[in-house]
Amino acid sequence: MPWFSRNKPKIEQNDEQRIVQTEGVFTKCPECDSTLYNRDLENSMQVCTKCAYHFRIGANLRLELLFDNGKFEELDQEVTSADPLEFVDSKPYKDRIEQAKKSSGLPEAIISGKGEVGGHRVYAGAMDMSFIGGSMGSAVGEKITRLIERAMKTRGAVVIFSASGGARMQEGTLSLMQMAKISAALAQLHEKQLPFISVLTDPTTGGVTASFAMLGDVILAEPKALIGFAGPRVIEQTIRQKLPKGFQRSEFLLEHGMVDKVVDRREMRKTIIRMLDFMMNPEIK
Ligand SMILES: [Zn+2]
Repeated sequence: MPWFSRNKPKIEQNDEQRIVQTEGVFTKCPECDSTLYNRDLENSMQVCTKCAYHFRIGANLRLELLFDNGKFEELDQEVTSADPLEFVDSKPYKDRIEQAKKSSGLPEAIISGKGEVGGHRVYAGAMDMSFIGGSMGSAVGEKITRLIERAMKTRGAVVIFSASGGARMQEGTLSLMQMAKISAALAQLHEKQLPFISVLTDPTTGGVTASFAMLGDVILAEPKALIGFAGPRVIEQTIRQKLPKGFQRSEFLLEHGMVDKVVDRREMRKTIIRMLDFMMNPEIK
């Protein structure tokens, strides 16, 4: 005879119901395995409250977290990718763009906007991995260049959050050309003595690293972000050497002088304001 018996009927619940009930409530941290309330995560800017793991975030949230009161005017929304090469890989590039627009809800792999940060006039862009891997095509290059040109016209600062797999293969040379175009615009910005703050987020790779992301007057990075040009496997095969541990992460790059400061996302806005106070109004503050 069992010591205990169940008088009440068993609660009937299938797996499907259970998933529905917990979906959108918890997120598991991939770094420390903690189960986190989504509401807590939202309050901590999508940073794990236990181990400070930085979850990837989208372009719109990035800009909201930067600008005063989360307010900005979106710029160049109509600038989107064309398909000048009529490129087809496993599927036509045109279809790929349409699909990316639908799934990401974004017009391109970067959102740019104008607004105030700590009272300073700022033109900011944020890249988004959910749009064809945050790749830099002609439209991304054009949007960044216009951002810089606007900053020069009205004496504003430029802040760009990078998150990219690199150049957009489907646009070939036209995509690579953006590296030179943006770099040239940044050189002009420099001559006008206006600051460019580059923020590297996970991951910043390829043509973006090889151009504007590393041209900041100040280069900030989020903790443990993957930052590099080529992937570790390609480099190991090329130089035939084992790479050191933590290679291509923010902290390693800071130690080797490629990054100026590793900044927790929750301190990012404050840090950028302090830098703008210093660089935009040297005689006042
Ligand atoms: Zn964690």
